[in-house]
Amino acid sequence: MLRPMLVDQLGRPLRDLRISVTDRCNLRCTYCMPASVFGPDYAFVPRSDLLTFEEIERLARLFVSLGVRKLRLTGGEPTLRRDLSDLVARLARLEGVQDLAMTTNGLLLPRLAPDLKAAGLRRVTVSLDSLDPQVFGQMNGLGIHPQQVLDGIEAALQAGLGVKINTVVQRGVNDQGLRELWLALRAQAPVRFIEFMDVGNHNGWNMDSVVPSSEVLARLGADSETPVFDSLVPDYRGEVAARHRDAQGHEVGLISSVTAPFCGDCSRARISAVGALYTCLFASSGTDLRAPLRGGASDAELLTLLSGVWGRRTDRYSEERGEQTRQTKVEMSYIGG
Ligand code: SAM
Repeated sequence: MLRPMLVDQLGRPLRDLRISVTDRCNLRCTYCMPASVFGPDYAFVPRSDLLTFEEIERLARLFVSLGVRKLRLTGGEPTLRRDLSDLVARLARLEGVQDLAMTTNGLLLPRLAPDLKAAGLRRVTVSLDSLDPQVFGQMNGLGIHPQQVLDGIEAALQAGLGVKINTVVQRGVNDQGLRELWLALRAQAPVRFIEFMDVGNHNGWNMDSVVPSSEVLARLGADSETPVFDSLVPDYRGEVAARHRDAQGHEVGLISSVTAPFCGDCSRARISAVGALYTCLFASSGTDLRAPLRGGASDAELLTLLSGVWGRRTDRYSEERGEQTRQTKVEMSYIGG
């Protein structure tokens, strides 16, 4: 029987599912998991509380039957989850999945990229905020050198994975080196500059620390060597990055979550590592899917639950944010970035 298209209260379909596979990370980025909060005594989720691969696969299959076409693994740092390529293989086999991607800091890709590719992963988005060792070391909280991420990017490309690079821009922190970063990486992969967001409750966000995308683009084109940019037509409805191309065909993406929010087209659901369903990155609470999963719920019961949550969805936080942030948001490392 053909199911009518599931849409939320604002008419938005469900197309993307982000799956967090762990709340742990091997970096302590100051804007995401600052070491002062996520220190040696921080209580991460015990392994038995994490969704198993069987549970994730089952949920993903149900989400696909409700309209999801793109799956993205995230975290925390997804590559820290043991046997990740087994999960990738399970998800890659699901009928109806058009894209299977992962967001990662890239550090473990030299070891894992070939297996992930062989298991069916198509693309990685690698986060890299600066090529300046001093700046990057300070931002990642552990003094890790950018070369380690560059090695991960190289390994992903060698393995045949599609690669994009994510750079979060914070005024007064890494905004001086954006052009250098883009010039150094543009031939390898499209770079997407992301406006610093008020995710979580610990990153000291305020409007002054946001560099608007329009300013980022102006800085990239700041001298006569750098070409004028053409803006590209979105590939699909709901594409979050506004893409631009220089005269030599290099692409740059701008994700303006603060100055030009895209809630109106947001077709994304997120499952946390413990199986809570969130319909907005800035949500305060989610819907527990693990209890029904472990309590013997049938597929039909789970589908009713999932479609009920999506059908009632009204979230549009970024459009409502204004100058002030709300203080009760779930952490990004928990919900999955
Ligand atoms: N550990 C992986 C990584 O580093 O890509 C995946 C999880 S991380 C939370 C996902 C993405 O969210 C990264 O690109 C990170 O830079 C971005 N991010 C985290 N906090 C952010 C913030 N406050 N504003 C904008 N982007 C943020």
